This record gives sequence, C-alpha cells and structure tokens, in this order.
Amino acid sequence: MKKSFFIGGEWVEGTAHAPLYAPYSGEVIAEIPLADAETVNTAIAKAEAARIEMRQMPAHQRGAILNKIADIIARRSEEAAKIIALEAGKPIKTARGEVARTIQTYRFAAEEAKRIHGEVIPLDAAPGGEGRLAYTVREPLGVIGAITPFNFPMNLVAHKVGPALAAGNTVVLKPASQTPLSSFFLAEVAEEAGVPAGALNVVTGGGATVGDQLVLDPRVKAITFTGSPAVGIGIRNRAGLKRVTLELGSNSAVIIDRDANLEEAVARSVFGAFAYSGQVCISVQRIYVVDEVYEAFVDALVTEAAKLRGGDPLSEDADYSAMITPKETERTLNWIHEAQEHGAEVLLGGQADGRVLQPTILTGVPAHAKVSCQEVFGPVVLVNRVSSVEEAIGYVNDSKFGLQAGVYTNNLSLALKAAEELHVGGVMINDIPTFRVDQMPYGGVKESGMGREGVKYAIEELTEMKLIVIKK
Ligand code: NAP
Repeated sequence: MKKSFFIGGEWVEGTAHAPLYAPYSGEVIAEIPLADAETVNTAIAKAEAARIEMRQMPAHQRGAILNKIADIIARRSEEAAKIIALEAGKPIKTARGEVARTIQTYRFAAEEAKRIHGEVIPLDAAPGGEGRLAYTVREPLGVIGAITPFNFPMNLVAHKVGPALAAGNTVVLKPASQTPLSSFFLAEVAEEAGVPAGALNVVTGGGATVGDQLVLDPRVKAITFTGSPAVGIGIRNRAGLKRVTLELGSNSAVIIDRDANLEEAVARSVFGAFAYSGQVCISVQRIYVVDEVYEAFVDALVTEAAKLRGGDPLSEDADYSAMITPKETERTLNWIHEAQEHGAEVLLGGQADGRVLQPTILTGVPAHAKVSCQEVFGPVVLVNRVSSVEEAIGYVNDSKFGLQAGVYTNNLSLALKAAEELHVGGVMINDIPTFRVDQMPYGGVKESGMGREGVKYAIEELTEMKLIVIKK
C-alpha cells in the first residue's frame, strides 16, 4: 500500500505521503511518497553518476535491455492493465490496448537503439574544404527529466523512457500525481530487465515542486514533457537553454465530405470522441460535416454513441467510466452548460451519473464557446454543418492548437488541399485525428507543442549532433 521512490536502483522510503484515490470508486488505493528537494537532488545525482555507464554501453546491449522490458511487461500484461484501470479509471478493455502499445513502444526503442547514426559530409563541396573527411555522430545528452500526464500512464512514459535509454541517456521520471503506480510498476520491470542502477529513477510528488526542480537543475540536460499547454509553456519559459520537448493539448477536428464512407466515419468518430471519456490529447472534439450528409451523419453518430456503456473500469462491459477527478467532471459539465447558454443543443448525454459523465453530443455550438475553442478533455463532441471542405478547413485552422486533424473524402484534390492547408502536426486522410501508432512522428504546432515523439524522432530530440573533421 505504502509506495517508495526508485532511486539509484534502490527502493527509497519517503518521509511524507499522500493518499491516492481511485477515480471511479473514490477509495484509497495507495500511499504515494512526496519527494522533497533533497530527494529530487539525490535522484538527479544518481542519474548523473550513471551517465558514463549508459553512454558507454554498446547499442546491442541497450537494445537487449529494452527488449527485456517489453518481454516482462508482456508477461505481466494483465497486471499492468489492472493498474492503469484502477489508478486512471480507464476501462479495462482500453487499458489492455495501452499495455499492448507500451510493449510495442519498447520494442521500437530496442530496434532504434541499433540504428542511431550520423552521416558523411562532403566538405570538398566548398572551396577550402578539400582534403578533409567529415562525419557526424549523435551523442546522448545525459540526464533527461521526463514529466508525464495521467491519461496514458504507461505508454506515454514508454515514449520518454524508451527513446532516452535507447540513446544512452539516463532518466529522472516524474509521473502525474494521479497515476504513479504505472511508473512504480515500470521501475520493477526495469530492475528485473537489468537497467543499470541510476539509469532510471522514479520520483513522485507535486508537479510545481518536483517538476520545477527538474526544469531548473543544470545537471538535467533536457526536459521531455507531455501535459497541458499551460504547464508546458511555463516549463519552456523557465528552461533557459535546456532542450525541451513539449507534447501538449488540442481541440482536434475531423471533416466529413459528401462522399465519405459514413458508416466507417461514424464508428471511428464515436471511438475518437469517447474512448477514455475523451481524455486523450487527440480526442475528436469538433466534427464539421458537409451539408448533404449532415443529417444522416448526426443521426448515426447519436445512435452509435448511445450504445456505449458506462461503469466500473474493471468491468469487461464498461466502454467509459469516471473522469479523472470529480472536479474535472464538474468543469466539463459547466462548459456544456455554457455552450447551451450560447444556443447549443444537446443531442445526447449532457449529464453525469455520480463521477461518470455521459458521452455528450452537441450541435449549434458557436466557435467562441469553451467546448469549441478550448481543449475539453472530456466526453464531449460538437457537430457543425458546413457547405464545403474548404469552409471546414478554415474552422479547423481557427484554433490556437494544431496537433492532428482528420478528413474523410474520396476527392483526391480536396484531400491534397486539406493536407497542404491544415495547420497541424499530422493530417489523417480518411481517418480521425485520434489515429496514432507508436513509431510515427507525432507532435503539434502552435500551442499543441514543439518537437516530435515516435521513437526514432524522440531519439533525435534526446541526442546532440557532433561533427568530426579529419584533415588528411
Ligand atoms: P498536467 O496537469 O499539465 O500535468 C502533466 C504533468 O506535469 C504531471 O506530471 C504534473 O504533475 C506535472 N506538472 C504540473 N505542474 C508542473 C509544473 N509547474 N512544472 C513541471 N511539471 C508540472 O496535464 P494532465 O492533466 O496530467 O494531462 C492532460 C493534458 O496532457 C492535456 O492537455 C492533454 O492534451 C495533454 N496530453 C498531450 C499529449 C500529447 O502527446 N500531445 C498526450 C497526452 C496528454 P502533477 O500531476 O503532480 O500535477
């Protein structure tokens, strides 16, 4: 019940603890240690001390360790899914999907560990460059501070720890206060997999204290952060010259053209809007449907979404469950009410059963309502009528965010136009913005962040290029 920090390869007891509550039942499920400044300092010192060992470890060995991590998680996969379901309130079916993806992420990291390389530069292309051999290598940065959110407590940690270790770095991981158990689980796995002592350290405690210390300590060479735009922007402002990767939020949109495969678009939109109660950075929040198919799309969307079942995340029947905290349920309800005050109509949901907010579909939402222009991060989707894909592109771009966007169309010219004009990190043609597999480059523009994850791309963020020139 009482958990410990994982520092320098050892389980270290904390002096102060905070209760961890399950989002659905409200029961205390663990006592989580709260790190003070000295504890964070020790974790950074241990990571710093392990830096040389990791840097010198051959690529095949780093790959083997990462594969071992994947093997152990695969062996303990049901236990892992239950941890996620319990601490994050994620339906067990969805949690199993996250575990499967986590295993893949570590496998990709194992593979990428073996292909980190530079290039030969033809210096003689410049007058005065003759007679020299030049090549680049990619070197690990050293200690990486990884700060992660609650919504994918295993796979988003894997997207930081996997690439960091693959590149020969060491890590101090600060998981979200609501979902630390997944990271303690990872620490057990890492210990068994043979990760060197100090190469992975897990410290828990408040974001504003532990997180801030990682951001400000000069021994930490990079911060890789996934979370809300407000916190991400604050980190960037304080990080100075430290490398910073920010994976932030969005109000992602999908456009449905007149020739779209409606059945598929509806099924995918229901998944994209309501999986894990919309607490997904690329959740479908706005749907723009071309006039001719608007009625048919909305009717089918409401019919299909109404089939989803809420309940205990550990139940095999639950499609959705409690939001992460009662406060978040309250906030989302307030935003729905605000949209109604601006003339929006609720076609489905709009109410909470205790901590569980029903999947909610709105129409007639003006662009300035919070559920449209801010990140809802809840089970709410709005559907608006447009006259053309071109008009919809304008609405999608009229956002301070830009993570991913989707366009259902079989018109090649419109697909290419959308691909060109949508100002986002990734455009999905004939799919929802929620599509992600773990090796693809992933990240946003505008307030959705900077830098890219997806193992190979995260490795680029977490290594430094060095040039070597040899005069013959
Ligand atoms: P959050 O409140 O921003 O927290 C994220 C992490 O930052 C937590 O570990 C948090 O610690 C820590 N933190 C809080 N204040 C901090 C500070 N001042 N300095 C340093 N660290 C600090 O986000 P969340 O509610 O967990 O996650 C939801 C957000 O993440 C959404 O906006 C979502 O879109 C975004 N997200 C983005 C992606 C992506 O890949 N683009 C993926 C998933 C989620 P505590 O928990 O202790 O406060």
